[in-house]
Amino acid sequence: MAKHQFQTEVGQLLQLMTHSLYSNKEIFIRELVSNSSDAIDKLNYLRLTDDNLKADYADWKGEINITFDEADKSLTIIDNGVGMNEEDLIASIGTIAKSGTKSFVEALTGDAKKDSNLIGQFGVGFYSVFMVASSVDVISKKAGEETAYKWTSTGTGEFDLAPCTKESNGTVIYIKLKDEEASEFASKYRIKNIVGKYSNHIAYPIFLNYKEEVTETLSEEDKKAGKEAVKSIEDKREKINEATALWMQPKAKLKDEDYNDFYKSISHDSSEPMLTIHTKTEGVNEYTTLFYIPKIAPMDMYRADFQSGVKLYVKRVFITDSEKELLPTYLRFVRGIIDSEDLPLNVSREILQENRILANIKQSSVKKILSEIKKLSKDEEKYAEFIAQYIRPLKEGVYQDHMNKEAILDLLRYKSTKAETGKLTSLEDYKHRADTEQKAIFYIVGENEKILRSSPLLESYNKNNIEVLILDDKEIDEIITPTMGAYKDWEFKDITACEPPKVEQSEEAKKEVEEKFQDITKKIKDKLGDAVKDVKVTNRLSESPSCVVKDVADAQMAQMMQMMRAMGQ
Ligand code: ADP
Ligand code: MG
Repeated sequence: MAKHQFQTEVGQLLQLMTHSLYSNKEIFIRELVSNSSDAIDKLNYLRLTDDNLKADYADWKGEINITFDEADKSLTIIDNGVGMNEEDLIASIGTIAKSGTKSFVEALTGDAKKDSNLIGQFGVGFYSVFMVASSVDVISKKAGEETAYKWTSTGTGEFDLAPCTKESNGTVIYIKLKDEEASEFASKYRIKNIVGKYSNHIAYPIFLNYKEEVTETLSEEDKKAGKEAVKSIEDKREKINEATALWMQPKAKLKDEDYNDFYKSISHDSSEPMLTIHTKTEGVNEYTTLFYIPKIAPMDMYRADFQSGVKLYVKRVFITDSEKELLPTYLRFVRGIIDSEDLPLNVSREILQENRILANIKQSSVKKILSEIKKLSKDEEKYAEFIAQYIRPLKEGVYQDHMNKEAILDLLRYKSTKAETGKLTSLEDYKHRADTEQKAIFYIVGENEKILRSSPLLESYNKNNIEVLILDDKEIDEIITPTMGAYKDWEFKDITACEPPKVEQSEEAKKEVEEKFQDITKKIKDKLGDAVKDVKVTNRLSESPSCVVKDVADAQMAQMMQMMRAMGQ
């Protein structure tokens, strides 16, 4: 037997699991069942595509079994999925920290409830078992291989790994429960309740196996004869989930609750989704999609290594959940599934991106999602919640998705000099309020709303009753807004870089003023030297004595450079 040291971060994580995250322990069942389901998905795919496995697994059907033993204080989760060999065990649940482990530790807030929801999102689900276990054995045999391995750990510092015997492929997770957890989790009702709550729509059957004491039912005669009923222990086996691909069921049959449960089972989120979009398409391409928008943006939305939230199936067979291009990246917060009837099962994961059928599905899915968000926008209160979470990715969409630019612009909301405080305006409303001659949408960008609102540059706009959008998400607005072009022919104009509106001054009057102030402007320019390009008399201002403005050409250059930097160039 070989002893292995847990990698430092894994050790740190385990420390947390055992000592800090105790508010929602039951989720360890969800995480282990979801791993089993993933493992069955993988074998289901391999047996249809890998010539070495085709024959042996022709009649194979994936299933998950759960057993428990009160006296032994144990719970066991068994699957007949793809299994793990020695390397897999070390790589997946041992020494090498996956990128998820580190980001999970970084994202922890110290709030136990919140933190336990993060477990699944960061791909560290397996370790959650140590919230309840005093020790864990993972016995696994990889499909198509001969040797099985047993991994054992108490979740403190190290694990053991040794070859063992196991007849068939798959994984057995034997959990020795901590004394204080045993009575709660080695229980038929509790397990049924947890599986029903989180794993009801896992596509494979989950069976609960247990022993139950049954008392013989005596006939009236036997009773009269004074015969005593015999008590015996019987083996019970009960299917405890629906085990259907929920998305294939007709919409009319599904209740909100069904959709919400399914969402929770695929998203590692314990709240209800903000939006559910279920679509069946027939015709040239036949496919079903079920998309969700989470109430709260996924934790990794702003990480370059974000996980894809959309799974691809072909005729109910899972193909991949790591293809990030199933939807455009600006929609990376969307969760759900795409199930195609037309793609070949053996579609290589590498060429997915170039696949025409998939490109079509992607295109219509984007249109559908945007139109559903548009519908949501009719409800001001709900839409404010959506905007609070997702305005940034939507803004990215404006430059990423030229085909849908207009539709996305319609969804954006901004602070503005004319919107009530705390409220946002759409571009359409801005346009409505404006003089039809205006033909431009004016904006000012910066970091701080208060400072922007008191900018002297606004004076001439306010005086002329022209609305200006206040863009205070500088990091993204400064890069994106100049690339937005126009909204329904109305160009976007940065008021720090464009001419002020309605200059009511003759050329002579202008000259006269300039001459009058020639001395003073020259003095200021000499004093400021290279810090400024020029010092000029202006009619932009009506109250403040002076302001700083950008040179148009310089401003464009600066934005260009910033954009290149943001794109990693
Ligand atoms: P995630 O499921 O997000 O990858 P986990 O911590 O839940 O993260 O699991 C880590 C890895 O361990 C999985 O990706 C998988 O490779 C492996 N694994 C866990 N449980 C099983 C299982 N029952 N069968 C096969 N592989 C498993
Ligand atoms: Mg997992």
